[in-house]
Amino acid sequence: MSGHGVSSNEIHQKAERALQDAHLQEAYRSSTLRLYTHRLAAVEEVPGFQALRQRGHELKHEVIENLDFYLAQFADSVERRGGKIHWAVTAEEACAIVKQIAEKAGAREVVKAKTMVSEEIELNQALEAAGIQPFETDLGEFIVQLSGDRPAHIVAPAMHLTRHDVSDLFTRKIHSEPTDVPEKLTAIARKALREKFSRAPVGLSGANYAVAETGTIVLIENEGNIRFCTTAPRVHIALVGIEKLIPRFADLGVFLRLLGRSGTGQKMTVYTSLLTGPSRPGEDGPEELHVVLVDNGRIATLADKKMREALYCIRCGACLNTCPVYRKIGGHSYGWVYSGPIGALVTPQFTGLANANALPFASSLCGACREVCPVKINIPDLLLHLRAESQEKAPIPQPKQARIAERTSMRLWAWAMRRPWAYTMASSLARFGQRFIARKGWIREVPAYPASQWTAGRDLPALAPKSFRERWKEISDK
Ligand code: SF4
Repeated sequence: MSGHGVSSNEIHQKAERALQDAHLQEAYRSSTLRLYTHRLAAVEEVPGFQALRQRGHELKHEVIENLDFYLAQFADSVERRGGKIHWAVTAEEACAIVKQIAEKAGAREVVKAKTMVSEEIELNQALEAAGIQPFETDLGEFIVQLSGDRPAHIVAPAMHLTRHDVSDLFTRKIHSEPTDVPEKLTAIARKALREKFSRAPVGLSGANYAVAETGTIVLIENEGNIRFCTTAPRVHIALVGIEKLIPRFADLGVFLRLLGRSGTGQKMTVYTSLLTGPSRPGEDGPEELHVVLVDNGRIATLADKKMREALYCIRCGACLNTCPVYRKIGGHSYGWVYSGPIGALVTPQFTGLANANALPFASSLCGACREVCPVKINIPDLLLHLRAESQEKAPIPQPKQARIAERTSMRLWAWAMRRPWAYTMASSLARFGQRFIARKGWIREVPAYPASQWTAGRDLPALAPKSFRERWKEISDK
């Protein structure tokens, strides 16, 4: 497997490589655009969608502010229904718990439904090291596992690959006939996975929601593999991040209406499974249910009053699909399992600020993420908070020349902003100067440092031919 550990501070190098890769750019462009437009259409159909978002926000606020109470209530509810609760403070503890349960069940193989928490704790690597083979059964995760990579997106793990790439991968790894037809590719994966479900004694899932009131694990999906993983094997293990709780069963409707529409633009995903305890006499399903409640940095996030809002996230992926930075640099540039705007928030929290202090700066702060977030997380605001914290506690090393240039330009800017005549003069000079380098409204290359650093990676929009004040005056004078 590639990509052990966190490499989030290499975001610039990785982003640069991604920007040079036209094939990758097209894969991200087409997939994010599809999800983005589907979301827009799905949201428009719902009267009162904004009120629904507000309700989602309030419910997550209620849970996160009273997490101790709801965790205790959830644990009681699960155990009352015959399930077993395990508490894992770290990734290592969570892996060790899963390993022990699998070993006790005599498992040499484990079938897995899609769970980002298992990616986060690097469970596959831990199981493999213990001689237990994990099989990913979600199509995207299956593809990612075959390619030895990490998910590129929270909802669509193989977003970075086109169907031609997947066909090549299947031909190389499972010796199938080449085909570009998505249905045929799905059938190939299904055939490769089918027998694993009936063989593996342990099935592992995550949880989209965990209902404190009833101890219900809620899983939503489109493929049916989660239902297989959680019902066919004798033992079901659910890995649950502690922020996944919702208070009451009646609140579930709010989140089900928000998640499908925001994530994939569906009214509802195809399957919604509600699992409350292991099977009872006369029922199909697992004999044992183990719920592993995972902290792994979440309690530390809770300790920061501002940042705890990041724990409201329901992992819909909408902020990734709308983010102009994610769309260009792709998921792997973020250097860990969570990418895009939410990745820039939670990676520094879960892995330590020093490991990911560049991420809060990987944003244009345009606010598109805040506009689409179904639980109204104020992502730009939290990014600004993290930027300040990063500067204070784990500043990014900068060459002396860049430090001086940044400080001087900020001072000049502040000076000019307080003196309208200086600002007007500087703008006029800049407008005059850009005549020599701007073409069709864009500046492709500035020859002098520090602006040359900016144009080395991107184009700069040229200043408008007339300032706002000049245009305002023209209109008023008419
Ligand atoms: S931050 Fe909001 S938009 Fe982004 S994945 Fe989480 S819930 Fe979805």
